[in-house]
Amino acid sequence: MKKKKDHKLEDAWIRAQRGDKNKTDPYKPYAFNVEKERTSSGKIEDVATIFLTNKECPFSCLMCDLWKNTTDEKVPPGAIPEQISWALEQLPPSKHIKLYNSGNFFDKQAIPRKDYAKMASLVQNFETVIVESHPRLINDKVLQFRDMLGAELQVAIGLETVHPEVVSKLNKRMQLADFKKSVEFLNKHDIKSRAFILLRPPFLNEIEGIEWARKSIDYAFECGVECCVIIPTRSGNGALDILQKEGHFSPPDIKSLEEALEYGIGLQSGRVFADLWDINMFSTCMKCLEERKIRLENTNHYQQLQPVVSCSCAKKINL
Ligand code: SF4
Ligand SMILES: [Zn+2]
Repeated sequence: MKKKKDHKLEDAWIRAQRGDKNKTDPYKPYAFNVEKERTSSGKIEDVATIFLTNKECPFSCLMCDLWKNTTDEKVPPGAIPEQISWALEQLPPSKHIKLYNSGNFFDKQAIPRKDYAKMASLVQNFETVIVESHPRLINDKVLQFRDMLGAELQVAIGLETVHPEVVSKLNKRMQLADFKKSVEFLNKHDIKSRAFILLRPPFLNEIEGIEWARKSIDYAFECGVECCVIIPTRSGNGALDILQKEGHFSPPDIKSLEEALEYGIGLQSGRVFADLWDINMFSTCMKCLEERKIRLENTNHYQQLQPVVSCSCAKKINL
């Protein structure tokens, strides 16, 4: 692990490195899509995702770039249901939906509680509704929302990494015990959870990045999550760009993502996915990129190891 230059990795410094936010409309989601995903029942089905526009998350994690599509102020009551309703009109039918809000669904500054009932009625025909939250915001409000839904609720939680020093430098204000407690709370109420795990967060080299992704997957399953999503850490939020220039961060290689995914699948402890968002930026070899993307996608879908991609780049690892 590299020793960091003496930045105070706290809110003020992290926020000072940011660029401008994108222009958003409180009555429109900033994005939406449909992708195939292996569901908890083992089928490969369409899952819609609506990326809701709402007030910025109160945390300022070192690696986070989700603030780019958020507002500075609370969105008006009724705006979030309007966003969902608008997106549903554009989206093809699907059985499962993610309502991702660039932060914490159960933060009342982001999603007004008054809107829960309307939101629940809008998604009543889905089988599964998946939302995201910081572990410290998982409490009885989750149950209130769940009880309004006709669908099964699942919650995604950022574990990020179990590396003791790195997790504290991420400024997430989360102890591993918070994560464990939140998963236990959800399990007690029969709510499935998925863990977001960073591949090669700052201050780790490529080998350490893979090793700690493995340990983080182990920990997440030990805590009782039903699914792990491995997210390659990317720059672009300002803070990580500075750390990258100083040699304290490098994005992981697509081959490391394959390795971490293979490990997770091999555990046979639950679903494990590689996040393929912006995947092109994690490869320096154009010869095998398409093949590796297809391999990762198939591994995600079938949850089985796929034939290895053979390419001359295979032995190069960027430390
Ligand atoms: S809690 Fe999540 S959304 Fe909020 S700053 Fe951290 S990573 Fe970003
Ligand atoms: Zn290659």
